[in-house]
Amino acid sequence: MAEQSKIPQATAKRLPLYYRFLNNLHLQGKARVSSKELSEAVKVDSATIRRDFSYFGALGKKGYGYNVEYLLGFFRKTLDQDELTNVALIGVGNLGTAFLHYNFTKNNNTKIEMAFDADTSKVGQSVEGIPIYHIDELERRLEGVQAAILTVPGVEAQAITERLTACGISGILNFTPARITVPEEVRVHHIDLAVELQSLVYFMKHYPLEGEDV
Ligand code: ATP
Repeated sequence: MAEQSKIPQATAKRLPLYYRFLNNLHLQGKARVSSKELSEAVKVDSATIRRDFSYFGALGKKGYGYNVEYLLGFFRKTLDQDELTNVALIGVGNLGTAFLHYNFTKNNNTKIEMAFDADTSKVGQSVEGIPIYHIDELERRLEGVQAAILTVPGVEAQAITERLTACGISGILNFTPARITVPEEVRVHHIDLAVELQSLVYFMKHYPLEGEDV
């Protein structure tokens, strides 16, 4: 972890993006990649990529590119790809059900182990082998789970968050529109899909791209 703390947060956020692309290159048998190729694929400008990679001790030579295997090894360690993080999903509605089907396993070592819902018609069912328990059983079932995905209605978010953090959950991916309050040692990442879409449309209208580097 000491190694990781030297990486700026903005760089750390791009790691999964780099990791996914490099992993695909590796699977295709490619040994090297140029910062230009990477830049086009992940939509990060090449100066930023070069700066990011310098933190990993990966210095690409001009016209030679970066060593894919070296970078993958680094990312795997840094992103704890070798260590499985168990995740619980709360709220098996439309969005929650989609996540259970997706289950993120293609990208990294996180796995949704269990799901919870208040709707008794959903409790006892499973999606892709993931059991759906009643929300009343939360405290009893959460053993070994480190992170949670919240896909409940916004009004339920805070109360469920308090129960999750009392159980020792240390990370929450919040897909509800509600802003949740947590103890300071708990990390929350908030993804409001409606806001993201609105913001995309706003930028499309007001800042049209004219082929410049983004
Ligand atoms: P659906 O069409 O299945 O209702 P939705 O995504 O439109 O899906 P929402 O009202 O956003 O529905 O609710 C998402 C899910 O959260 C539902 O499955 C609902 O039963 C569940 N839910 C609501 N309140 C709670 C709660 N307190 N604890 C756990 N799950 C809850």
